[in-house]
Amino acid sequence: MTTYEALPVVNPATGEPITTLPAASADDVAQAAERARSVFDAGVWSRLPIRKRAAVLLRLADLMERDLEILARLDSQDAGKPITECRTGDVPGAIESIRWFAEAADKVFGRLAPSGPEGLGLMSREPVGVVAAILPWNYPLAMAAWKVGPALAAGNCLLVKPAEATPRSALHLAALAAEAGLPDGVLTVLPGYGFEAGAALARDPLVGALSFTGSTATGRRILKDAAESNFKRVSLEMGGKSPQVLMPDALDYGGELIGNMIEAAFLTMGQNCTAGSRVLVHHNIAEEVLERFTAAAKELVIGDPADPRTQMGPLINRAAFDRVAAAVEAARAGKAQIHTGGLPHELPPRGAYYPPTVITRAPDGSDVLTKELFGPVVTVQTFTTEDEAVRMANATEYGLAASVWTRDLDSACRLARGIEAGVISVNAYSEGDITTPFGGWKQSGFGGVEKSTNAFEQWTREKTVWIRTR
Ligand code: NAD
Repeated sequence: MTTYEALPVVNPATGEPITTLPAASADDVAQAAERARSVFDAGVWSRLPIRKRAAVLLRLADLMERDLEILARLDSQDAGKPITECRTGDVPGAIESIRWFAEAADKVFGRLAPSGPEGLGLMSREPVGVVAAILPWNYPLAMAAWKVGPALAAGNCLLVKPAEATPRSALHLAALAAEAGLPDGVLTVLPGYGFEAGAALARDPLVGALSFTGSTATGRRILKDAAESNFKRVSLEMGGKSPQVLMPDALDYGGELIGNMIEAAFLTMGQNCTAGSRVLVHHNIAEEVLERFTAAAKELVIGDPADPRTQMGPLINRAAFDRVAAAVEAARAGKAQIHTGGLPHELPPRGAYYPPTVITRAPDGSDVLTKELFGPVVTVQTFTTEDEAVRMANATEYGLAASVWTRDLDSACRLARGIEAGVISVNAYSEGDITTPFGGWKQSGFGGVEKSTNAFEQWTREKTVWIRTR
């Protein structure tokens, strides 16, 4: 029998309820997985010619384009993200992902082994079957699209569990997929709690692959559940504490540098896995950078996420606010200097708003320097030599991303080589584009498994067929 618990969706900008959805139980997950398995076995999607699968996904992308405004509002209201960010970044990015994977599906070839005359070794990639995606709340639709695109293009049946706070854009995506002609049971969205629906997916014996984006603590848990159930293949995209490294000539990039630093630090209120939360700046330019960066941070427009002028909305909830505020206060107590932000601060009256905050002289080992705060808090530290910059950049358990600013090509190459992170951008804050792999090292994840043709590796398995030749 199915039991439902309620999943309230709350607007983080006001604290007011938006809606209450039924939460998927462990039973619901098991039933959805069984249904997905039978749909996969029936071949209505898995054995459909790839061009036909691609056509459905291209129609889905067109429908997302039609509903761009609806999708942007859903994510903005559920996550408290500024509407302009959703309209111009998240939703167009999600549409591009679906379209790109649809178009790429029939351009990923198998391999032929360089065997001798006694046989032909053919390696083909096949869908896994029933697969699952567990999503975070900070980029609800964008993260869904990174997984839905390649998983469906490869012929799988996919179960998606959106984050508790942000289920509505994934549900709308599923409705659009049905409108686009996706057969029933190929894409199932299961809003629910992590400890119930999420854990059930991680333990389900029918789920053959699971792609997770979220915190490192949850990733560790999922890996354990996978090992204790059916050894499903797990890919993990987790947290970060990414450095922005500014070499002595970085200010040659002037306003562009400062603009990128602001975006790196404060996009989505710093609740961004690749947030550049540690600025490492050469001491020669530190004073000027700090002054200009702080001045730009003060200019950011904090307000109602529904207002197109807003650049900073609220944090996702009060718990996030408390975590961020406690870390900043602990740093202040340890004699750190707060250049802007911190509390008290003039902020909208409702919602868990926290101001953009710039900190220097944070005590060694303090949370602001070492923990992924997932808030609008940036530390600034200085270095003298390139080696020192690399050491500081790598002094973290994470390895998701880094940016490096210099006109000196040799220095940029040495830094890019020396920094242990999955994605390094030079003279930009960027994760590349849809054609480039994305993923973290160390405790940030398993490397570049999202975006690009790499993504198909998550959602397919390789089969070797050996044909003996005589
Ligand atoms: P979270 O780990 O709390 O939750 C992520 C998802 O996991 C949610 O859907 C949640 O319900 C589910 N979950 C929770 N417990 C579970 C369990 N025991 N079993 C299975 N699923 C469970 O993370 P969050 O707070 O939603 O997202 C923020 C985190 O995500 C940050 O650490 C951020 O860096 C990371 N993130 C990483 C990337 C990336 O690509 N590397 C992108 C976005 C966010």
